Amino acid sequence: MAYGLEQGEDGRWIEGCDECHFDGASWDTVGAQQFLRSLAASWRTLLDRAPSKLLRTRPEPSTWSPVEYLAHCRDVTTVLREIVQRHVTRDDPTMPERSATNGLEVDVEATLTELDDAARGLADDLDAYSEADLARPVEIDDKLADVLVLVLHAVHDADHHLFDVRRQLVGHD
Ligand SMILES: [Zn+2]
Repeated sequence: MAYGLEQGEDGRWIEGCDECHFDGASWDTVGAQQFLRSLAASWRTLLDRAPSKLLRTRPEPSTWSPVEYLAHCRDVTTVLREIVQRHVTRDDPTMPERSATNGLEVDVEATLTELDDAARGLADDLDAYSEADLARPVEIDDKLADVLVLVLHAVHDADHHLFDVRRQLVGHD
């Protein structure tokens, strides 16, 4: 994924992406919550449109199939929700384990439900976080960012993979 942290005019780190043109500076928590609460529905709309034979087919060996991207999106959203919680509640958080999924065996309905739970959960958590919580420091690749950057990374990662799958399905729907 072609993304990176860029420093804004006020010195804060913001996530950007030259591939899907995500710009962290144009997002706030309200926008992130709206995106997260409709994330599973966005995936469902996209996958429903796709011919079923393409859902589990990798376009090339090193590129995930649509259902593998879906499973990855569920995993990343789940683990980032946990990472955000840890950074809000602890000064020196440890990182949760990430589980690896076998994309070919992904149960699409169950995965959409799990993704919906994780994404809505993160959106609901944001209701409870104060501005000070979102400004708590997070070190990412030796850069001192904040919790909001982690939240927007969850949004960007999901949005980027919707973009990946849309690109795969172009001309097939
Ligand atoms: Zn991107």
